[in-house]
Amino acid sequence: MGLGCRETAAEFRASIPEGEEHHVSENDCLFCKIVAGEIPGDVVHVTERTVAFRDINGQAPTHVLVVPREHYANAAELAAGDPVASAELVTAAAAVAAAEGYDDYRLVYNTGAGVGQTVFHTHLHLLAGRPMTWPPG
Ligand code: AMP
Ligand code: ZN
Repeated sequence: MGLGCRETAAEFRASIPEGEEHHVSENDCLFCKIVAGEIPGDVVHVTERTVAFRDINGQAPTHVLVVPREHYANAAELAAGDPVASAELVTAAAAVAAAEGYDDYRLVYNTGAGVGQTVFHTHLHLLAGRPMTWPPG
């Protein structure tokens, strides 16, 4: 079933059992729109369950966001709801790092506005290509 338009998404949402609404594309979610192709993204890698695109405000020579195609607000909700997709984010990020020539890279999930999460469709940050300090700021 396609989720390309709001009406279709709304119909699909209505058919989902209560409590499983997070599987549905969210109308006002930026990353759902990039996954659906409604907003352009610089997509570098796709898998069955994930889409990877360059961060619009890159913080390293490679800064790619890997997102599940389905909407989950954060990494823990994704891991609980779709562990296969959760694992696929990591393997997809590794594939992108390898494709861009990096053995060393950093993966980051921000969970909650208090630590800087601004888009509430979970995304794995892949950062590579420059020295990095620890702890992160
Ligand atoms: P976070 O702060 O962990 O929620 O990360 C959100 C990331 O999304 C930030 O690094 C933003 O630069 C990035 N971002 C915001 N809008 C876009 C967009 N349209 N395309 C690609 N990346 C985006
Ligand atoms: Zn979303």
